Formats: sequence, C-alpha cells, structure tokens
Amino acid sequence: MREIETSIMRVDATKPDTGRISEAANFIRRGGVVVFPTDTVYGIGANAFDDAACRRIFEIKGRPADNPLIVHVHSVEQASELAHIDGKYLKKIRRIWPSPITFIAKAKAKFPASVTAGLGTVAIRMPAHPVALALIKSAGVPIAAPSANPSQKPTATTGLQSIRYFDGKADCIIDSGSSFFGIESTIIDLRTFTVLRPGPFTPEEIEKAFSIKPRVGRVASGTASARGAVISPGTKYRHYAPETPMFIFEGEERQLKNIVEGINAAFAIIGSSELCSRSERLGYSTISLGSRKDIYGIAKNLYSAIILLDSLKVKFGIVEAFDESGIGLAIMNRLRKASSNKSFSTKKGLLKLLSEQSL
Ligand code: AMP
Ligand code: MG
Repeated sequence: MREIETSIMRVDATKPDTGRISEAANFIRRGGVVVFPTDTVYGIGANAFDDAACRRIFEIKGRPADNPLIVHVHSVEQASELAHIDGKYLKKIRRIWPSPITFIAKAKAKFPASVTAGLGTVAIRMPAHPVALALIKSAGVPIAAPSANPSQKPTATTGLQSIRYFDGKADCIIDSGSSFFGIESTIIDLRTFTVLRPGPFTPEEIEKAFSIKPRVGRVASGTASARGAVISPGTKYRHYAPETPMFIFEGEERQLKNIVEGINAAFAIIGSSELCSRSERLGYSTISLGSRKDIYGIAKNLYSAIILLDSLKVKFGIVEAFDESGIGLAIMNRLRKASSNKSFSTKKGLLKLLSEQSL
C-alpha cells in the first residue's frame, strides 16, 4: 500500500482541545480515516455513510470484507435514528450509555454494505471517552470504526501502538495515551439478547441493567470457533494473536515448576504479578499483567503484554488462565483466540503442544 503523510496529534484524554478535534473531524468529513482513542481500545474510523472511506479501513487493516464494523454515535437519539431499537430497551440503554457495550439491531438508516456486511443489522455503540465523543459530535456523522489493529494482530490500546501500526496508512492519529479498559466492547444482539462477544460490560452487569439474563454462547466464551454462517462474523476469525505461539496454562499453579522443568526452548510466562514474582525467583522470563486482585488492570495490560511477547524473541509463551466470571470471561475469550485455544494443565499436555509446533 502506498504510504501517506499521517497527521499525528496529541489530545488530552479528559479535556480534548476543540481545535485539534475539529481538525481530526475534518478528515472524517472529507472521507479520511482517523485512528482515535475510545474507552475500550483505539478505533480506526471513517464516516459510516461513506462507502469508499469505510473500504479504506478494510484495506488498511487487511480485514475480511464479511466482518462488519461498529458504528459509533454520540447520543442515544443518534442511535435511534440509525437502528430500530425496541422502546423497552431504549430507556435502559439511556441509563447505561456511554459505556463499553455495543448493541446489534435492525438497521434503520441505509448504510453501505462495507459497514454492515449486508446483514441488514447494525452494531451501534456510544463510547465513554471524551475524545471519541467530541470527535463524533464534531464530525456530524456517525463514525464506523473497528478496533485499531492490522487484522489478527493484538489491538492497539495506546496512542503509541496506534502510531506503530498506522503511521503512513491512516490520515490522522489522535494520541491520548492509554484507552481505559484495554479490551473491545461487549457485543449483545438485542433481537435474541445474546452476548456475541464478551467485553468490559459483563453479563452480570447486563442482567442488572436490563433485568434480563443474557444468553452467553460458547463462541462468546471463546471455546468454540464459529464457521460458515455466523451471527457475528468477527467471532469466526483468529484474533489478537502474537507471532510467538502462546499456550494457556489451566493447571494448578504449584505444578507449573515441575511441568516446565527440563524444557529446552526459551519461553516467557505471562501472568499476574503474583505468578510472575514466583516464576522470576525460579529464573524464568516473565511479563506481568499486574495483580490478580485488580482484574480490570489485567484486562488493560493484556494486549501490550501479548505485543511484548513477540519482542522477547522467545520460542513460546505460557499465559496464566483467569477465572471466567465478570470481565474474566472477556479476558479468557481473548486469550483463547490469541492462543488458537491451545491450553495445557500437565507436562504431557505441554510436551504435546510443543511437538505439534516442532519446538
Ligand atoms: P472490532 O470493532 O474490530 O472489534 O469488530 C467489530 C465486531 O463487531 C466484529 O466482531 C463484528 O463481527 C461485529 N459486528 C459488527 N456489526 C455486526 C452486525 N451487524 N452483526 C453482528 N456482529 C457485528
Ligand atoms: Mg477487532
């Protein structure tokens, strides 16, 4: 792809400079592609009604055309102009937005096929980030934006990583430091009240907000990979993956020392600071995700840890499994995708994975 000159701007996350925001919004209005921070991760966005601009997002990311985009709005009113959202849900959505949750509903506006993959439905979200909200308002159009990562790579959760990925490719990159949650939004299909992708807005919180228990499928937990016709196309693709093979350790922590003893290939352990400090004492390389007591912190550090794994030039990574409740469900979903669902709990299991990878 031909390299272009990217306008990179630093914008305060809580008090966005209106001049810079309107400069970035101009790029959107003129059919450009802008990388911007949200509460979840960075997004790579364009005017949701501009087919050519949205197609450029696909080209820049190398994203399969059948994987639709999330449309970002600045208000519930704007969302209800774009999608048929049942009145009984609108009241509740008004209470919880802006937040890291995306709703799928029948499309009301006529979106280009690149945005909806011709599904007839649209994914809509109001991000809880001052910069994102100011940008959408200033652009005067909804912004279609998938996560800011080349397809299959771990998503950018910082301005710096966005610049590494998209300098020379996007028209503009807004650097506002770290996004708040560090993993992509929860996606719920309002037609069936099913969680298609777990995220920072947990099933427990959804139930509380709507007084309805959402369905959570195996695809959402990351243990099944959807093939062929699927409700949420993104769920069938490998995602968030490092170049370095990564395996999830689902066994007992005190067994890990025996399991890895005698392994010749260089590896690193990715996990809680608790596991990492014990592993370091045993002489292993580690990447800490922060304390187990702060599970939101673990989520926030996840993608940068996976990106770091590649820079260590080890042969493989071992990543700690987390409890699948609350945001832990989203963490495990991303880990299963990043590791192609390869896990072990015994020495025999690890040796089998290593021989499969010829390590
Ligand atoms: P990303 O923003 O990169 O995390 O990708 C957007 C996610 O939203 C992907 O998993 C898509 O499959 C999903 N998505 C977007 N639009 C729809 C839709 N109309 N129906 C179902 N899933 C959708
Ligand atoms: Mg994505």
